[in-house]
Amino acid sequence: LRKVLWLFAAAALVHAADEWVDKHRSATDQLIRSATTSTDGYARLTYLCDRIGNRISSSPAMAKAVTWAAAEMKAAGFENVVTSPVKVPNWIRGDASLRVVKPYTRDLALLALGGSVGTPTEGITAPVVVVSSFTELDALGTEKVKGRIVLFNPNWEGYGRTVQYRSAGAIRAAKLGAVAVLVRSVTGNSLYTPHTGAMNYAADTPQIPAAAITVEDAGWMARLQAAGEPLTVTLKLGCQRLADATSANVIGEIRGRELPDEIVVIGGHLDSWDVGQGAQDDGSGAMAALEAVRLISKLPQKPRRTIRVVLFTDEEFGGSGGRAYEQWAGNTVEKHFAAIEMDGGAEAFAGFGVSPEPAWQRFRAIGRLLEPLGSTSVTVGGGGADIAPLMRRGVPGVGHRASGGHYFDWHHTNADTIDKVDPKEFQKNVAALAVMAYVLAEME
Ligand SMILES: [Zn+2]
Repeated sequence: LRKVLWLFAAAALVHAADEWVDKHRSATDQLIRSATTSTDGYARLTYLCDRIGNRISSSPAMAKAVTWAAAEMKAAGFENVVTSPVKVPNWIRGDASLRVVKPYTRDLALLALGGSVGTPTEGITAPVVVVSSFTELDALGTEKVKGRIVLFNPNWEGYGRTVQYRSAGAIRAAKLGAVAVLVRSVTGNSLYTPHTGAMNYAADTPQIPAAAITVEDAGWMARLQAAGEPLTVTLKLGCQRLADATSANVIGEIRGRELPDEIVVIGGHLDSWDVGQGAQDDGSGAMAALEAVRLISKLPQKPRRTIRVVLFTDEEFGGSGGRAYEQWAGNTVEKHFAAIEMDGGAEAFAGFGVSPEPAWQRFRAIGRLLEPLGSTSVTVGGGGADIAPLMRRGVPGVGHRASGGHYFDWHHTNADTIDKVDPKEFQKNVAALAVMAYVLAEME
């Protein structure tokens, strides 16, 4: 009995500990109502996608997006709107082709991986050797890899585990003398769509060209190899690395009414890959953050702390935007109360993850206010690539989560377009960001 009573007492304590959020409920319910009825956020996302288009950080389109987003922030009544310059890598995709030349003739879809070197103009013609893992590659050794094009054809085991073949494949294959790499696109589902993404080189191995092919073609090549009929292909990539370019983070805020020096950062990345429209990744996150804060600014009373929207540049090509913001903020990072990031797409809202654990314990009750949005989940463990530099300096990081049922079907492809973003789900994600930012800015 004593044990049972103790459990009841503990449950009551937890409940009482969470009740502090209830006094914010009328304001957050108002935010949820306005977010789920306003079409302004989705209209901005549509403009960004349809009129500005994809925007790798070094591109003229990204420069246009920066100017436009700053103007949108000013029009929304944000204060201290600035575009803060950031040096970014400048890589040009150029023309690309992949032709099977033996024993068939066939042109295959491909996308160069971001950062890849180009091939000679006449291309690289070599036999393909297919492997499903680094272990399999290493077992082949130099003798069977040298002078060939390695195709990595790993099973999809989720993004986090599978992406290593895209990021490190060129290094591992070059070590054994491969002349180029092809990587099966990092996705679980494919409708013949290649997926690009960042890749790395190492100082001690030759830089060899790298491109993604479709899941369908990777499977085809693997089956032919298994049948004893390996392919020879010609790969042509016109990629070029130019001198670094200048892009910018777009920053704007609503000043806090009592603690203006304490800052809640909220954002996503404005840049995208140079294909598709960067709709889910991450136009949706950037535009949801902007709209969430615009709606907060319309409340009768401004929150106690300052809420600052940061639309980061160059998340995709190395994260220089996130690092530049941390530098730009300098000593004021110590006054950053929390940082929220949305960069997992705008499918059904699925809660927030908070790091480190003590911050989670303080913030988890906010889940009580999110019920109308389909998830009350506020769990330990979260953050994001752009806020990681702030988190390393001790700022609690709050990562927005979406269900992600299809996110990696579209990720880094020509199919990441506005039609993939459901307006109703987008609105709910705006509402969730607004509730989280508001309560963090208002809480004791
Ligand atoms: Zn992203």
